[in-house]
Amino acid sequence: MRQFAQEQGRRPSITLPRRAMPAYKAATLQKGLPMSFPHRHLLGIEPLSPPDITAILDRADFYADLNRQADKHNDVLAGMTQINMFFENSTRTQASFEIAGKRLGADVMNMAMQASSIKKGETLIDTALTLNAMHPDLLVVRHPQSGAVDLLAQKVNCAVLNAGDGRHEHPTQALLDALTIRRAKGRLHRLSIAICGDIAHSRVARSNIMLLGKMENRIRLIGPPTLMPSQIGEFGVEVFDDMAEGLKDVDVVMMLRLQKERMDGGFIPSEREYYHRYGLDAEKLAHAKPDAIVMHPGPMNRGVEIDGTLADDINRSVIQDQVEMGVAVRMAAMDLLAQNIRNARAA
Ligand code: ASP
Repeated sequence: MRQFAQEQGRRPSITLPRRAMPAYKAATLQKGLPMSFPHRHLLGIEPLSPPDITAILDRADFYADLNRQADKHNDVLAGMTQINMFFENSTRTQASFEIAGKRLGADVMNMAMQASSIKKGETLIDTALTLNAMHPDLLVVRHPQSGAVDLLAQKVNCAVLNAGDGRHEHPTQALLDALTIRRAKGRLHRLSIAICGDIAHSRVARSNIMLLGKMENRIRLIGPPTLMPSQIGEFGVEVFDDMAEGLKDVDVVMMLRLQKERMDGGFIPSEREYYHRYGLDAEKLAHAKPDAIVMHPGPMNRGVEIDGTLADDINRSVIQDQVEMGVAVRMAAMDLLAQNIRNARAA
């Protein structure tokens, strides 16, 4: 099996050990019995408690198993309408939300925001109100401005899921990262986790710092001082500008993309120099624990923040697992929010 998967260039599933789900829990999930998730929207990690995070991850474990079956369908969103509004380009997040909604039986619509009325001058709020009048149940929104998704959520009647807003939050990315870590390491607490690179411009880093901190992990941020946020002292993390020092004995190495589209000046001397000092390769990874896993949210700049061969190394990199867990986490989040919608309607 492992050899077959390797020949196919895929990561063998056995390299991602996971705890078996207790039968009672699987049965509970299958029957759709309520697991409490006291939120109307998923706007960020900030408002979530550790039990909220665990509720999403436990349910996502169930969907990760379902997604490996021949029949991946479930009907928890049957009759519901999901609209995906991406005001910023996306490949994996949009595809992942679309697949997740379809597997759960929702009617899914992708709005082509590039060609939309926004281009004709309509405000975000007017667009949201127009869509709201069509009675969607779930709105999945990505927007280049921090806070735009929260604002929109205040104007509509349906559940809103933040698929990334500016530098603010990307909650489903942090949740899928957490699920990947939990399945690879067997736990999501007391781990030493390094988040490396362009922290200042990264909503992925922000959501991950909050989630991993809430779950009581030790977080190290590594990168050039020019790419560290100014209020870094408030995060309760350790900061390093040297990879060898920062990676020492960590369990997880999370690399970030150099977000050039959010930079307006000379944050780094050159990509070559950046790769030399901060790009992850086998030599730098040798400072981490021998079983440390390598992560990247994608899209990757190979040869800038990570060596391409290491990114493809199925013994160290869990990058493809992150994509797989992304669908499961989005199914779980939409399932829990839909249950709240149903409960509110029944009340
Ligand atoms: N895909 C992630 C995001 O939307 C990370 C990245 O773009 O670098 O934030």
